Amino acid sequence: MEEKQRKQILQSLPPLLLEWYDRNKRDLPWRKDTDPYRVWISEIMLQQTRVEAAREHYIRFLRELPTVQALADCPEDKLLKLWEGLGYYSRARNLQKAAAIVAKNGFPHTAAELKKLPGIGEYTAGAIASICFEESAPAVDGNVVRVLSRVLSDGRSQDTLKKVLAEELSASYPPARRGDYTQSLMELGATVCLPSSPLCLTCPLLCVCEAKSDAFPLRKEKPKRRIFYKTLFVFCDKTRIALYRREEGVLRGTYAFFSIGREMDKGQAEAFLRLAGLKNFSLGSPLRHTHVFSHLEWHMTAYTVYSEEDAAKLTLPVGESADAPFSALFYAERSAAKREFSLPSAYRWALPPSDGDKD
Ligand code: SF4
Repeated sequence: MEEKQRKQILQSLPPLLLEWYDRNKRDLPWRKDTDPYRVWISEIMLQQTRVEAAREHYIRFLRELPTVQALADCPEDKLLKLWEGLGYYSRARNLQKAAAIVAKNGFPHTAAELKKLPGIGEYTAGAIASICFEESAPAVDGNVVRVLSRVLSDGRSQDTLKKVLAEELSASYPPARRGDYTQSLMELGATVCLPSSPLCLTCPLLCVCEAKSDAFPLRKEKPKRRIFYKTLFVFCDKTRIALYRREEGVLRGTYAFFSIGREMDKGQAEAFLRLAGLKNFSLGSPLRHTHVFSHLEWHMTAYTVYSEEDAAKLTLPVGESADAPFSALFYAERSAAKREFSLPSAYRWALPPSDGDKD
């Protein structure tokens, strides 16, 4: 498509989208106002997270940490507990690093300045600058690329489109309601121009859209995820459960159960524990779960180990590899483990029910 035609199409979008947005926008808690702290938290939470999953977390997070200063001062354990279930914990840590800067220097008002803060990239800077400060700063994420690659029948790669569209969109922003325009594009991608089977017959852009189908963006092959096998041992005595704090790697700063880097059936698990020095114990039935990260897959088998002996005193048998030594384990009351420690969903499924647990 010629440049002139692209420009004309992009310039025709704001009135169509704004009118549609006014009638169809979802009632979401972060749309109640345009306070930059609130918009920032919502945009970071919504990266890689579904709206429904983010909604409750957002309300709880702001109830606990209502200001930038409160976020900057929050102990890491509490912060990661508030983030539990959202995944990608580095987002929470970056939020806190940026909060320390903002608490000292104030909130930047332009996309260019916002991008200097930890964890704020092109997309988030555009979202905050347009929604909170009415800058012509587009926020081009996967949703927006999908909508516009279809509207313009543009089959270039996602990365190229992100760059090109950010420039072109910026030049076609309306003179007013820029924040609403940013949100209307996101909203159309999230609710109408769906990845497969877009709802073209109800789309406000049907009259200008070239593709009117899911022909774009062209699919690219995803890199293969690395696969790891693990056996988790959930050590429990009468009232407590053994955890350790992950000090490095993925999920750093959260809590986990002891794990070995290979699969074991029940007989192998029992033999392993005896070799490690555990004498009196009983083993629960194996539970299996696969946890998928963007670049990794963990295929896990978990055993609950009931024993009154201290698991922190066991010794790793020669030739085995563990995510952390036995000595890193400490015991927490079972009911508190769920409530007070940030147990990410990668481990939470293996938590045995505590007394009085209904779920
Ligand atoms: S007409 Fe269909 S393909 Fe085009 S923008 Fe609307 S929903 Fe997407």
